[in-house]
Amino acid sequence: MPKCKDCKFFKTKEEDAAKGDCFGHEVDAELDTDQCPTKSFEPKEEDSK
Ligand code: SF4
Repeated sequence: MPKCKDCKFFKTKEEDAAKGDCFGHEVDAELDTDQCPTKSFEPKEEDSK
């Protein structure tokens, strides 16, 4: 299950890596993306692995 931290809209907070900004809202980095309030999950475009 991907987490919000895997979502391209998630921006990790510098002061608290467990939280991030998503469209101006604070979300939990470990929130399952099936809990995404807006069903907007898109994977980060990082195919380095
Ligand atoms: S709440 Fe939704 S859009 Fe925001 S980071 Fe999580 S999965 Fe992505």
